[in-house]
Amino acid sequence: MDIPFNRPWIAGPELEYIGRAIAGAHLSGNGPFTRRCQAWLEQRVGCRRALLTTSCTAALEMSVLLADIKPGDEIIMPSYTFVTTATAFVLRGGVPVFVDIRPDTLNIDERAIEAAISPRTRVIVAVHYAGVGCEMAEILRIAEQYGLTVIEDAAQGLIASYRGRPLGSLGHMAAVSFHETKNVMCGEGGALLINDPALTARAELIWEKGTNRRAFQEGLADKYTWVDLGSSFYPSEISAAFLWAQLEHADAATAYRLRVWNRYHEALAKLEEDGRARRPVLPPDCVHNAHMYYLLLAEAGRRPGVLKRLNAAGINAVFHYVPLHASPAGRVFGRTHGPLPVTDALAARLIRLPFWIGLDEGQIEQVVAAVYEAVERL
Ligand SMILES: *Cc1c(COP(=O)(O)O)cnc(C)c1O
Repeated sequence: MDIPFNRPWIAGPELEYIGRAIAGAHLSGNGPFTRRCQAWLEQRVGCRRALLTTSCTAALEMSVLLADIKPGDEIIMPSYTFVTTATAFVLRGGVPVFVDIRPDTLNIDERAIEAAISPRTRVIVAVHYAGVGCEMAEILRIAEQYGLTVIEDAAQGLIASYRGRPLGSLGHMAAVSFHETKNVMCGEGGALLINDPALTARAELIWEKGTNRRAFQEGLADKYTWVDLGSSFYPSEISAAFLWAQLEHADAATAYRLRVWNRYHEALAKLEEDGRARRPVLPPDCVHNAHMYYLLLAEAGRRPGVLKRLNAAGINAVFHYVPLHASPAGRVFGRTHGPLPVTDALAARLIRLPFWIGLDEGQIEQVVAAVYEAVERL
């Protein structure tokens, strides 16, 4: 492909910081670079505690332990999401209850949540698709009324905000991703953000493999021992050193992405005017982080041909999630509450355009020209 879908971005000091981690002779996790990254997240997101993990998936799995999910507990979530939003819960016997998405942002439709609540409902998962915030005011109101936990899947949401508050700071907990395809990355990585103060102490135990290591090191416990559920959740200092280089430059990275996003958005306005595709919608309550640029083609039946043409032109445009409720495992492990017509219709119409830091003006023009060509010729 001439223009790949994603290219990992290098901020600059990654190797230097990895060198420092090596020189410091601390390569396992929970060292100085981990602490720096966590402090950055706590300060920028305004969460009470940030704990680095090996992935967003691992952070979601920690959140499921913290929410104390038991077999048969139900979790309301969109079907239009990444598979591990659901698998994290299913591992502990939780049952995903899929509801429809909003036609504008493709986020969970908050108007569909209340009807899906049963006596077994424990959690609502708010997935901020493309770094555009869910309708959190209403989601938090429903959760409060029914005594439910809100977990933000903010994998795509770092540095975006809703009504002036950073994504990741709104639910009881949030999971972010530093996977290579995300705005800030370290290959594979993530973080669990804790906002509910009642959860921080237990989060530390689970993160420390179920031991009281931290309390022991701080002199608050007289012996070091196994006290709770846990696992090996944290990344090595090699990953944390890489991530620190990226976090230091996260604002410049977001600014670059916003320029690319705005260029696509302007250049594709005519496609929307002509009724051939719909561009992303940004609600006034949301400041986004330019995580991705997608188009909703007028008809699902045209998507394979459009993608084929773009790929033939050397442009790696791709589709996105196959809705979980329609997947083989989703049918076994989850259920839907009513039909999901918006999910079914929009997931089949969506294409994502190449998006990475370093994509230049000429390449953007090449993509735009190829999109017009591919969409108009069919
Ligand atoms: C990327 C992503 C994940 C998984 O992130 P990993 O760090 O790869 O585990 C989960 N949910 C959403 C919405 C994502 O975009």
